[in-house]
Amino acid sequence: MKNNIGEIKPCPFCGEQPIMVDAEGLEEIQYWFRCDCCGFSFSSSQIYEHFDSEEDLISQWNIRVPESELQSKMVKMQKNILLYLENKIKS
Ligand SMILES: [Zn+2]
Repeated sequence: MKNNIGEIKPCPFCGEQPIMVDAEGLEEIQYWFRCDCCGFSFSSSQIYEHFDSEEDLISQWNIRVPESELQSKMVKMQKNILLYLENKIKS
């Protein structure tokens, strides 16, 4: 288990920090993430194939919709909900 190459984002399902697993494959060492909290595991898109390097694994794992984008969408939605409720109370 290694956890020493830059930032590793938390599990997208439960928010816990994943564990990087490395193991010998048939020919070479392979890497994947495992979340012990919710059981999620993350490897490359092909079944039973894992990443060849820690860098590849981390860069693929860290691809997310930017948090700032999500934050501004949430603020917009909250405003719309408040407007809706205010209009409902007035009518
Ligand atoms: Zn999880």
